[in-house]
Amino acid sequence: MYDIAIIGAGPAGASAALFAAKAGKRTIMIDSDKTMTRRAMLWNYYGIPETVGPDLVVVGIQQAVKYGADHVKSTVEDIVKTDSGFRLITEREEFEAKYVILATGAATDLIERIGVDTKPATEPRIKTVADVDPDGRTNIEGIWAAGTVAGVSVHAIITAANGANVAINILSEINGERYVDHDIYKPDVK
Ligand SMILES: Cc1cc2nc3c(=O)[nH]c(=O)nc-3n(C[C@H](O)[C@H](O)[C@H](O)COP(=O)(O)OP(=O)(O)OC[C@H]3O[C@@H](n4cnc5c(N)ncnc54)[C@H](O)[C@@H]3O)c2cc1C
Repeated sequence: MYDIAIIGAGPAGASAALFAAKAGKRTIMIDSDKTMTRRAMLWNYYGIPETVGPDLVVVGIQQAVKYGADHVKSTVEDIVKTDSGFRLITEREEFEAKYVILATGAATDLIERIGVDTKPATEPRIKTVADVDPDGRTNIEGIWAAGTVAGVSVHAIITAANGANVAINILSEINGERYVDHDIYKPDVK
């Protein structure tokens, strides 16, 4: 049983997975590897003068895996409520998790199939998004959404930040107090 399962490993999903795994939660990213970010040439990602989308995606997944997140390449076809959380049904396997973060980018077929409330998108070239509250909760308790599918501005730094934000909100709910992940720079320590 995972604590948090994340559908999608683009900037939103991998960033959420990084925060969740680094917080010590059992975390899985299930991703069909169709991220729009692979097509991006990024000159506007704060702190990185330039990078290409494929590199950003690979490094983002590696960062989350480094802290213990599992990464499975597959498509989630259905999500079913169970007594203790959710069962995620993929092409070949099933996984169980207490919380789910939908980070499916422009793809809304899964969220519509499982009954997440949607609304028309405001971003160019995005048609429909999940109708989430300001913290990222959908209408289904325990299922949250982040990034493009949650209706934020379609820029990598913003979707990544939103993924982190939603993970922090879930971690805060699980832990019962506001979660902060701060490491301290010690220049004299080698
Ligand atoms: C041509 C192009 C150029 C761009 N240029 C820039 C730029 O210069 N600067 C910038 O900031 N942004 C740019 N962007 C936008 C940027 O890529 C997006 O804002 C951001 O990366 C979207 O992140 P995301 O995680 O929400 O979605 P995505 O990166 O699309 O990730 C969604 C992931 O979910 C997976 N998925 C979907 N459904 C399922 C399912 N049922 N089961 C499993 N996995 C699933 C997909 O395969 C995908 O890997 C560009 C986008 C495009 C298309």
